[in-house]
Amino acid sequence: MTRAFVAPSRYIQSAGVLDQLGTHVTRHGQAAFVIADDTVWDLTAEIVADSFASTAATYERAQFGGACTGAAIDRLTAAGADAGVDIIVGIGGGKALDAAKSVAARLELPVGTVPTIASTDSPTSSLSIIYADDGAFAEAERHNHHPEFVLVDTAVIAAAPTRWFVSGIGDALATWYEATATWESGGTMLTDDRPTYAGRELARTCHRLLHDHAEGAVQAVAVDSVTESVEAVTEAIVLLSGLGFENGGLAAAHAIHDGLTMLPSAESATHGEKVMIGLLAQLILEGASDETLADLTAFAASVGLPTALSDLGVTDPTEDALMDVGRVAADPDGPMGNDPIAVSAGQIAAALRVLDSPGPTQH
Ligand SMILES: [Zn+2]
Repeated sequence: MTRAFVAPSRYIQSAGVLDQLGTHVTRHGQAAFVIADDTVWDLTAEIVADSFASTAATYERAQFGGACTGAAIDRLTAAGADAGVDIIVGIGGGKALDAAKSVAARLELPVGTVPTIASTDSPTSSLSIIYADDGAFAEAERHNHHPEFVLVDTAVIAAAPTRWFVSGIGDALATWYEATATWESGGTMLTDDRPTYAGRELARTCHRLLHDHAEGAVQAVAVDSVTESVEAVTEAIVLLSGLGFENGGLAAAHAIHDGLTMLPSAESATHGEKVMIGLLAQLILEGASDETLADLTAFAASVGLPTALSDLGVTDPTEDALMDVGRVAADPDGPMGNDPIAVSAGQIAAALRVLDSPGPTQH
């Protein structure tokens, strides 16, 4: 089977780097279509304007409504076509960036992503998650191209609510364990290729940076400070986890995340928070040692990530509810197919039941 490695063309990260947006746009043309919601635009409009002032490039801003739906993408695509632009730029959280990637794909234009929160590893990827009008997951759209540039201003990231940054740590933490499961099972990446050694090493580095710097980085972000730890962990969340999951493969942690989205009580939990619970369940299913599980649980607690179902808002789940999660997660055509251990819906429900118990020390 072929091995493959995929990536965005350019990744730029630093405090204050948003003032280079206009310069990066000029590598791809003269006119940009900038997709951002009102809140993000209030925070960034002035810097964006300044960044274009020193260049020959221009931009037109399009209002993003907050939901990455087929209808929103259609509306933005029509507006982008009317504007006659050379490049699409998404500024904001995962949904705005996903919408920008889909608009660019439809217009066959390059895209640049500017994440303003480090909550997931999506800014570097060639994927968009599309939602139905009622907010339910509709599809994961794969694009032929990656972003031409990913511009990450760590001052903006640090100023955003800390919960997003912590959630990004949860999403990134799973990358190494899922890449390892994929490697050992002979599984594949989203492109249906085998992972490369490079993809695996990036996932390993992601894990090391989180292990060494996450606690200090969260402490700094809580007071809106950018330190070297914040730089390291932002790179782990946005770049290394992004490259690591796309080039290493997803496994049980994300499969169980997908199952957890079935629970209405977990609705207010973030992607990364659900992935964290999925990761703990993955390790239980894989038969990880008590020490490994205790270390990971302690790490999660130290940065404010959930370690029990109740932390997601799920209290006293019924057996039926946990079996529903298990059935979605156990789909062998989903990420679970990359785990070396064949698991049933019942085994997943049993692992989640362990994460629903108070633990031996609290009895
Ligand atoms: Zn994820």
